Amino acid sequence: MDNVAQAEKDFKELLKEQNAYRETIMLTHWDMRTKIPKKGVEQRSEVVGFLSEKLHQIETSEKMKNFIDVLKEHSEDDFIKKTVAECEEIYERNRKIPSAEFKEYVMLQSKSESIWQEAKEKDDFSLFQPYLEQLVEYNKKFANYWGYKDHIYDALLDNYEPGVTVKTLDQVFPDLRKSLTGLLDQISASSVKPDPSVLEGHFPKEKQEAFSLAILEKMGYDFSSGRLDETIHPFAIALNQNDVRVTTNYDETDFRTAVFGTIHEGGHALYEQNISKSLANTPLSDGTSMGIHESQSLFWENFVGRTKSFWNSHYDLFKSFAPKNLQEVPLDDFYRAVNEVKPSFIRIEADELTYPLHIMIRYELEKGLINGDIKVADLPRLWNEKMQEYLGVTPPNDRVGVLQDIHWSGGDFGYFPSYALGYMYAAQFNHTLQKELDVDRQIASGNFTPIREWLTKNIHQYGKMKKPLEIVEDVTNEKLNSDYLVNYLTEKYTDIYKL
Ligand code: ZN
Ligand code: ZN
Repeated sequence: MDNVAQAEKDFKELLKEQNAYRETIMLTHWDMRTKIPKKGVEQRSEVVGFLSEKLHQIETSEKMKNFIDVLKEHSEDDFIKKTVAECEEIYERNRKIPSAEFKEYVMLQSKSESIWQEAKEKDDFSLFQPYLEQLVEYNKKFANYWGYKDHIYDALLDNYEPGVTVKTLDQVFPDLRKSLTGLLDQISASSVKPDPSVLEGHFPKEKQEAFSLAILEKMGYDFSSGRLDETIHPFAIALNQNDVRVTTNYDETDFRTAVFGTIHEGGHALYEQNISKSLANTPLSDGTSMGIHESQSLFWENFVGRTKSFWNSHYDLFKSFAPKNLQEVPLDDFYRAVNEVKPSFIRIEADELTYPLHIMIRYELEKGLINGDIKVADLPRLWNEKMQEYLGVTPPNDRVGVLQDIHWSGGDFGYFPSYALGYMYAAQFNHTLQKELDVDRQIASGNFTPIREWLTKNIHQYGKMKKPLEIVEDVTNEKLNSDYLVNYLTEKYTDIYKL
């Protein structure tokens, strides 16, 4: 037994070392997206390359393998066992890909990203096509190395949303799509329309920043373990539990980017700040999946930040930072304007209702690419056809169509469904929370503490100790159910559009 205790101790030391590399890489990424001078990028990319290689070596080392073998068999500590299982997954995933192939793939990834950027700028898909074809081929190969039971795409999904399969998605997405497009048709037919022009005006950066800080503070974001900075595309990043940073973007002609972007990223950050401290320095100290992470950001952004109750309690504060013309806008007009539904080409600009439709389009195309039903060359046409079919709009060019997202250029297949899953999880969590707490009244009071505490108790604290679907079932006592999202959206838009 002494040997096991010693192995546990040494294993934790190795995890600390591994974590030191991870944290340094993350900090470097944060710097590269916020503060780095332009000429510093090249050298820094090389530094990240070296550090990533080192991290990869530890994750796939013989030393790691030995700990996995010994502790899997002999440890009786639940926390150690879960940590070992996580390390084993990482180990297996990496070891199954021949290292020469992995190197080629990493080079292809970075090349593809810059080609994608050029193709997007020139609106020329044909530049990107051969690279995307290779990326798809690599992902097919990797999926086969990793293995799967029913569908090849499951192997990729598993990287982001463990336990969720094509079968799960094909059960929930078609119904969800039908409900959303039905609602969209009703909204288009309604003669009652919000007027988004009331939101126009000049919003100085400093005032947006002050409001962003005030909202994060109210959400319970801990500034002694975090900070807010400016970036082009908002993100949250957890270096460790005591250093979880938020970034946002200030558009001086449209405050919505910063306000909703900050609340969204703040939701991600609260998750990371409230993971149990006992998981520190292990791979379990992280959100359990992309989807559960997104459920937290979307919960705060939509189920708190876009509600009437929220603006009831925060409109005066907002107005104290807003330009003169906003002062006369009645709360109801403001609320309806920030919740306007309008099918658009760009996913990241989509409203709450049409957003999941964008995701379903990507999911269907990805699934087809990976199982060989769809050829890369046909993507631009298929993309536009699906946009027309689902959203009723056809992109005028590929720049705002198939070339809009960066994900495929980095070889990220299997990632998009998490966005829609997160949204469904959030609605399902919200439904359960409402049974325990008068959420509306709580939001209207401006005191978010009970809400944050509920999320911490039920979701945040566990980190990766629980798998995503396990959390959903433990919290809500049922399996993933898209009805809650549909009900929430129906109720919301029936009121706004007087359906
Ligand atoms: Zn983002
Ligand atoms: Zn997010």
